[in-house]
Amino acid sequence: MKRLLALIILIVTTTVSAQNNNSYWQQHVDYTMDVDVDVKKYQYKGTQKLIYTNNSPDVLNQVFYHLYYNAFQPNSEMDAHSKSIVDPDGRMVGNKGTRENPRNESRIAKLLPHEIGYLEVKSLKQNGRTVKYTVEGTVLEVTLNTSIQPGEKVIFEMTFDGQLPVHIRRAGRNSEDGVALSMAQWYPKMAEYDFEGWHAHPYIAREFHGVWGDFDVTIHIDKTYTVGGTGYLQNPQEIGHGYEDKSKKLKIKKTKKLAWHFKAPNVHDFTWAADPKYTHDVLKTVSGVEIHFLYKNDKKYTKAWKKIQPYTEKALNFYNENIGPYPWKQYSVIQGGDGGMEYAMCTLISGGESFNSIVGTIFHELAHAWFQQLLASNESKHSWMDEGFASYISSMASAKILRGRKATPSPSSYNGYYYAVNAAIEEPLTTHADRFNTNTAFSIASYTKGSMFLTQLNYIIGGDNVKKTLKKYYNDFKFKHPTPNDIKRTAEKVSGIELDWYLNEWIETTHTIDYAIAKVEGKNITLARVGQIPMPVDVSVTYVDGTSEDFNIPLRMMRGEKPTSATILKDWPWAQPTYTFTTLKEIKTIEIDPTQLMADIDRNNNTFEKK
Ligand SMILES: [Zn+2]
Repeated sequence: MKRLLALIILIVTTTVSAQNNNSYWQQHVDYTMDVDVDVKKYQYKGTQKLIYTNNSPDVLNQVFYHLYYNAFQPNSEMDAHSKSIVDPDGRMVGNKGTRENPRNESRIAKLLPHEIGYLEVKSLKQNGRTVKYTVEGTVLEVTLNTSIQPGEKVIFEMTFDGQLPVHIRRAGRNSEDGVALSMAQWYPKMAEYDFEGWHAHPYIAREFHGVWGDFDVTIHIDKTYTVGGTGYLQNPQEIGHGYEDKSKKLKIKKTKKLAWHFKAPNVHDFTWAADPKYTHDVLKTVSGVEIHFLYKNDKKYTKAWKKIQPYTEKALNFYNENIGPYPWKQYSVIQGGDGGMEYAMCTLISGGESFNSIVGTIFHELAHAWFQQLLASNESKHSWMDEGFASYISSMASAKILRGRKATPSPSSYNGYYYAVNAAIEEPLTTHADRFNTNTAFSIASYTKGSMFLTQLNYIIGGDNVKKTLKKYYNDFKFKHPTPNDIKRTAEKVSGIELDWYLNEWIETTHTIDYAIAKVEGKNITLARVGQIPMPVDVSVTYVDGTSEDFNIPLRMMRGEKPTSATILKDWPWAQPTYTFTTLKEIKTIEIDPTQLMADIDRNNNTFEKK
């Protein structure tokens, strides 16, 4: 019986994994939404027609929608999370104590009924027949009338009411810069179902994973409001507000509200913001992409928001060259939200009293147009893939565009990681974004250690191979949901080097790297692997005669080595704690990895000088 069970499990698991590797599929959504906004009450009423295509090989008996705004209610999971985490996000709590002795109070806990957020589903039909659903916090659980077969399309029709919360995190009314409506996560959104199953995770203010599809959205809002967001405006001459073709006549109706009609093809979200006092500039770039800038018509912002425009184009060009062409015709940089957050075809960012206060954020958020909006890895599970890769490429863009340096990866950002190691707060990058113990550990893992995955890859497989890896990753996985294994396999295919050990050690564990010069006897150098993570080792030696030589010791399980001008020595089998090699000349100094791209946590034992 046991053996039979094991055999069945083996058969089932091999078929499942074979499916994952060989027959990629993704669900598809076609949304048509019509929403009427009451700007005084921060409320809106919407209809949603969703054509859902089940491209999976599975029969679905249930579907789930996210109702993100329900998070902004006292006692919600987001409220509970911001109360329990030891280092809460300053945007989500108010400090009632002192700086030394903070007494944090959850801002959500204080919200009154007219200040909370909500998404209330009023009716829902599947193919014309009413379906049963229950609301569990930020998730709508729908029991289907009839299951959805593989390959089948069904139509869900919904009516819903929403209230935009007081601005606490990402979305809300009257942001810190006074932007009236930051409408992120504003509609009932179908949860993603992929080869790993449903991802109907509750919202606690962290990351996202969405279904690819097409959006057709009409927003009815008071005429005085300018709207910016995802999608191309279909009726610019009926709207004006800077979207119109100036050579043609405007046809604006004499109604109190305008109906803004947007279409967004091949995206996995739809976000917008609106304000009665937006300045709207349009930059037609050489690449053909139109970049829209929408910011408060206030002289404290004008200078920086004008200056940023040509720099945004330069960053766009940098990403086009180094990753692959931005595939949509439009991108909007919109003042709204808090800090910066990436959305489909746009970003909401706050501030801009000085150029330096927003340029880094805009470069980072624009990089997300590739890493997550286009290469849509599951942010909740693998936040290092979007935050890390966006940080990696945007820091090179900043070095080149803002400081005129060469766009080469640098270990200057490793300090945050070394801090986390020393403070023993590190958690593996496989931790779900919502469940890190501290916000600090989450950010260091996602941003710092995630970007180090690529920076350090330069050390392991060589810089040219990393450049080719990013381009191939773009080509193979754009408009898909790439996984950690996909970036690893891409790097393997480009370099011919085996990297499963690297993905495992760096992402799935908190093991660290420490190599040391253990012994030098005459011309014999003995190195030691002190840390748990094995690595190939670069060693630089200067000789008594004034010459120098670089050595490269490949890790045996890499089954190859990076292109290098160094002297390639025999492989180091990882399990061997030490490794000895002999030079031809008298040694003066030795240094392990002078580039410091290998994240060695103790560099004190990396150098030797003959006395
Ligand atoms: Zn980011």
